[in-house]
Amino acid sequence: MPAPRATASPAAWLRLGWTYCLMLVTASLVVGCDDGGNLPDKTAAGDPRPDRARPLVVCTTPMVGDLVRAVGGEFIDVDVLLVAGVDPHLWSPTRADTLRVLAADAVFLNGLQLEGRAGESFARVEASGRPVVRVAETLAKSELRTDQANGSHFDPHVWMDPVLWAKTAPTVATALAKVSPDHAKDFESRAAQFGTNAAMLDRDIKIELASLPVSQRVLVTAHDAFGYFGRRYDLEVRGVQGVSTESEPSLAAIEALVAEMCERSVPAIFAETTVSNRSVQAIVEGCAARGHEVRLGEPLYSDSLGPAASEGATWMGMLRHNARAIAAGLGGRR
Ligand SMILES: [Zn+2]
Repeated sequence: MPAPRATASPAAWLRLGWTYCLMLVTASLVVGCDDGGNLPDKTAAGDPRPDRARPLVVCTTPMVGDLVRAVGGEFIDVDVLLVAGVDPHLWSPTRADTLRVLAADAVFLNGLQLEGRAGESFARVEASGRPVVRVAETLAKSELRTDQANGSHFDPHVWMDPVLWAKTAPTVATALAKVSPDHAKDFESRAAQFGTNAAMLDRDIKIELASLPVSQRVLVTAHDAFGYFGRRYDLEVRGVQGVSTESEPSLAAIEALVAEMCERSVPAIFAETTVSNRSVQAIVEGCAARGHEVRLGEPLYSDSLGPAASEGATWMGMLRHNARAIAAGLGGRR
């Protein structure tokens, strides 16, 4: 390990301070970790990556990771906790996840209770003084959708509206500047570029969906993740499950949706890559029993990106895929 520099940069001082905080927070987690075991004393010898040149930023979902990577560029290292295809509603941080969080200079979550079971771990990290940013919670409340089933909660799926999601980029830039002040201007300009790219994506999605007639603009999916997408692109949205996937849909809810789809001749229903398609299949069968054939559309990316090299491996790719699959499934012109 090289000798410490005689004149430390502000970022180096921050790291030194956080190393001390990491030791304190790790010590407190040893008592309270979820599985009852002791955390390895990884920080006893100091920061696990003391020589790193770039700040390490931990993100929860792949969409948040995509956003933070876009704003941070080559000036930061990004570690995403949830692998592609994992449902964030049901995710609980493991002991290994907690250690990854403890090694970070800053942490970015979606927030609005998307990572419903992870709150306590991050609250403890927050207490150590490092930036913990819940990106969706930085938006004005007037721009958020209320969860229909729970009026005191907001719909967390804000990445589904590219223009709204891009509004979080300047906040990400501000938070990254705290851990890497020398690159504050770079983060600012990259956040602006993210906004420009999101505006282009928004235009492309509008063009993709423009051919859908009004009568076909009903989007039925496995869970209620597409409310912001529907609001932006003028689609009525129905989810078999609610805004969260934590509870199973009731038989009455499935029957009501079957009746509505038959009555309105909705041509397709869409499974999602992070949700079991059992209830979607039940809807298809229910409609068939009433003589209404429902197509199973191409699965949509809802609460996670696709695997590396797939069309949905990036946030922009995810939304482009969804728009194309929805247009095709609901009978837009091809
Ligand atoms: Zn969801």
